[in-house]
Amino acid sequence: MTAGNPARTIEKSLSETFGETAHVDAARYDAMYAASLADPEAFWRDQGQRVEWIKPFTKVKNTSFAPGAIDVKWYEDGTLNVAANCIDRHLATRADQTAIIWEPDDPEEAAQHITYAELHRRTCRMANILEDLGVRKGDRVVIYLPMIPEAAYAMLACARIGAIHSIVFAGFSPDALSARINGCDAKVIITADHAPRGGRKTPLKANADAALLHCKDSVKCLVVKRTGDQTSWVDGRDFDYNEMALEADDYSKPAEMDAEDPLFILYTSGSTGQPKGVVHSTGGYLVYAALTHEVTFDYHDGDIFWCTADVGWVTGHSYIVYGPLANGATTVMFEGVPTWPDAGRFWAVCEKHKVNQFYTAPTAIRALMGQGEEWVNRYDLSDLKLLGTVGEPINPEAWNWYNDHVGKGRCPIVDTWWQTETGGHMMTPLPGAHDLKPGSAMKPFFGVKPVVLDPHTGQEIDGNGVEGVLCIADSWPGQMRTIWGDHDRFEKTYFADYKGYYFAGDGCRRDADGDYWITGRVDDVINVSGHRMGTAEVESALVAHPQVAEAAVVGYPHDIKGQGIYCYVTLMNGVEPTEALYKELRAWVRTEIGPIASPDLIQWAPGLPKTRSGKIMRRILRKIAENDYGSLGDTSTLADPSVVEDLIENRMNKG
Ligand code: ATP
Ligand code: MG
Repeated sequence: MTAGNPARTIEKSLSETFGETAHVDAARYDAMYAASLADPEAFWRDQGQRVEWIKPFTKVKNTSFAPGAIDVKWYEDGTLNVAANCIDRHLATRADQTAIIWEPDDPEEAAQHITYAELHRRTCRMANILEDLGVRKGDRVVIYLPMIPEAAYAMLACARIGAIHSIVFAGFSPDALSARINGCDAKVIITADHAPRGGRKTPLKANADAALLHCKDSVKCLVVKRTGDQTSWVDGRDFDYNEMALEADDYSKPAEMDAEDPLFILYTSGSTGQPKGVVHSTGGYLVYAALTHEVTFDYHDGDIFWCTADVGWVTGHSYIVYGPLANGATTVMFEGVPTWPDAGRFWAVCEKHKVNQFYTAPTAIRALMGQGEEWVNRYDLSDLKLLGTVGEPINPEAWNWYNDHVGKGRCPIVDTWWQTETGGHMMTPLPGAHDLKPGSAMKPFFGVKPVVLDPHTGQEIDGNGVEGVLCIADSWPGQMRTIWGDHDRFEKTYFADYKGYYFAGDGCRRDADGDYWITGRVDDVINVSGHRMGTAEVESALVAHPQVAEAAVVGYPHDIKGQGIYCYVTLMNGVEPTEALYKELRAWVRTEIGPIASPDLIQWAPGLPKTRSGKIMRRILRKIAENDYGSLGDTSTLADPSVVEDLIENRMNKG
């Protein structure tokens, strides 16, 4: 069984046209990749030069994946400051260059262009305010802000004084927030009055008030004015950022940090279980974020780069803030959503700011595909050079739509596979170096050594045309260092199942050409009458039907087959579910993949349960399919709990 039906797979070769100007062409990729595995020390010693060190490192790599002794250290005797790298070192040449283009939720409100000089001033002031509030090197600060420039200032201000930030996505509830404040024993939380998003307002300060009822009295709350709406105020605990910024000094000395000092804590999305507090380092993380940003997106000086993620996710950390700013780039920060005021918003922003590289998630592409391409066609997208996706496997159908209508067939699409835990891209085609196959993450990044293991024996499966679990055989600088406060869980989660390897939790296939396809999470593999199959494949087949917008497939206990195939299907706007369509979809999957993949049950699903970052939570769908509603597990990262209730109701009606 293969992810991506070869019959539907068109290949796209842009390497010839893109290769002339690209940082990395095919020959260079081959040489650099080989060198990065043959002599990681030498490769990463060179790459370490792309950041500015206060005290240069002499040691490069000191890592072990040995059972019981998991240890990851890169550049361990070097010292540096991340904020100085992202701001100060650019001032001599880029003071007046735009660092951040901020696009507000409401298109009627003016965008802001923040220069590197302004970014420096703002970050220093924020750093001084945090110090006034008693924050010192090593202390933790929780950031609970809308997508406003102050979120970047706050991140960089923490980095500047050596505090460790933990960002909580502004869509999270007071409960999720208090758990994260307490989880790292934060000294300060930075929030705003309200967060405008999609024309609505989330009462952030009120949420913070509710969360702080469950936290130590000593936690201080710094409040940024976003909407200007009234909020309640606790004297002695709450501090007015805008007022303090008027008085704060314009300079703050960057703290000298060890390469291995933690830069931030960030929780994973919670797609598979309890979110994990991932800890990233200062030196290795920055080198890796900067390198991947430049090479994967083929970023050149003067380009306008837009990653649509929220800074509440790792994608926002690495590819809105740290990677781009370390490279002296111009990065777009968007406060809104793709579908408000209408389904053309992404493309309106691309046109308005002349975006060159555009990076988003398959969930957004599928949602916009469901609205029709006329929304894309209204805008001039001629400045786009490259497109990217991240977060889930992208169905070939969505890939083709993205390619045809957004990229007009002339922009390479980088399908980047990586995780909160990996800090930066692990597998992706490089524009100018690789051909593209819709749905394939193609090639490992420099220094990344993927292996395909047999899930039962744990042995490496060599050769091409093979499938198994995806592990990484050796460390890379962007790797997480530990789970905050629980190094044991770190070892158990990532190194216990397959000894000597980092286990990503995903399955993959190495095709006949040696290119990689992520087949989904290992937990999502189903076994139908003895045939193992990735749910992603059945989903892609369903989404390829013209009337299907989105699909999620899980296994459920089946008397004869062992596991049956249960499909949740969201139809395109305006399409009515009928018995005829039900039959048609079953037949469709049978022809697309084969009789073995024929759906046993299809449930019409107007909405699917998703994490706040837009990923389908299949573990919940599995429970519903199994008629087991009592133990849905951690649902705190669910975007819209009512979706689950609706699905359960419909399931129950089915008996
Ligand atoms: P949790 O670990 O809490 O269950 P999560 O795995 O969704 O949540 P993230 O770190 O946000 O948390 O997501 C990483 C995962 O997203 C990967 O392990 C993989 O399953 C999926 N993923 C990311 N990018 C891609 C991609 N390009 N192709 C396929 N899958 C991807
Ligand atoms: Mg994960």
